[in-house]
Amino acid sequence: MFFEDLCLYLDVNSIEYKKEAEIAPYVSIRVGGIASFIAFPDSIEKLCNLINYVRGKIKYYILGNGTNCYFADYFEGLIIITNKINEINISKNNIIAECGASLTRCAVYAYENSLTGIEFLYGIPGSVGGGAYMNASAYGYMTSQFIKECLVYDSIKNKILIMNKDRLDFGIKHSVFMNKEYFVLSVTFDLTVGNKDKIKCLMDSYMNKRIVSQPLDVPSAGSAFKRPKNDYASRLIDKAGLKGYGIGDAEVSTKHAGFIVNKGNATANDINILLYEIKETIKEKFDIELEEEIIFVE
Ligand SMILES: Cc1cc2nc3c(=O)[nH]c(=O)nc-3n(C[C@H](O)[C@H](O)[C@H](O)COP(=O)(O)OP(=O)(O)OC[C@H]3O[C@@H](n4cnc5c(N)ncnc54)[C@H](O)[C@@H]3O)c2cc1C
Repeated sequence: MFFEDLCLYLDVNSIEYKKEAEIAPYVSIRVGGIASFIAFPDSIEKLCNLINYVRGKIKYYILGNGTNCYFADYFEGLIIITNKINEINISKNNIIAECGASLTRCAVYAYENSLTGIEFLYGIPGSVGGGAYMNASAYGYMTSQFIKECLVYDSIKNKILIMNKDRLDFGIKHSVFMNKEYFVLSVTFDLTVGNKDKIKCLMDSYMNKRIVSQPLDVPSAGSAFKRPKNDYASRLIDKAGLKGYGIGDAEVSTKHAGFIVNKGNATANDINILLYEIKETIKEKFDIELEEEIIFVE
């Protein structure tokens, strides 16, 4: 019954949506079955109102670029994709990017405006919202180092707030957004004026490192595990002889042992079993508990 009301709500509010839609095209690892609804609000206002409308009535999940998630075979509820909310603006040394803007586009925009700091975001395939949620990091830098404040939707109070960095509880692959009552609407990056050639050079060198080390030609969701203390998950997995090991079509990449790739028709179940077996092996061989970085949504 509510699903009929939802259709009407989406139509009346001019929000594009799909019914009984395939999820796989919206997640980089291409694993996920059918969702009752996938909606694509194109403004912050529509996004907040939609969350407020469905909250407590049906299951819902917000996705940016889907580069860190995989889904179960059926998602009975609403997936909200933010990629149509993607404006980027500049004010002095600050770049203000809406949640659905791509991290790579932010890095390019900073370069175009001779601002340095977020070169490391170049090549991370996620969105600004997903980047803040995950506190995306690369080459020794974390997104939070360059965040001044976020525009946030507090879904419990149904209020939009500006939260400065101190309140965002950033840590390694951690943020306040993980408690799921707050949603990222936009992020203000605080950058420094720099030399355009040097910025470009750094971006290119990061991109080259990615091309050399990561399996960019096969679907994946990035690093499957968080970095354990004083070590690398990829090094441990490689040392355990698990490169190329697979369950169904889910396989430990032969190029980068930290990545799980989908060779064609991997299912969530394949990935779950593979993750479990990797964790068991690493625990047995090195007495280290790996923790998943990729997110399973069911
Ligand atoms: C080839 C490849 C390379 C990668 N390299 C890196 C890397 O170098 N460093 C790194 O850190 N990661 C890397 N990743 C992982 C991924 O790109 C990052 O974690 C990215 O920040 C996820 O952004 P996303 O928009 O895709 O998030 P999604 O996968 O869409 O979502 C991730 C989480 O964020 C939440 N979320 C999304 N948008 C919002 C919002 N607006 N408000 C609140 N919550 C939100 C979702 O609900 C979900 O829980 C890589 C992935 C791939 C496939």
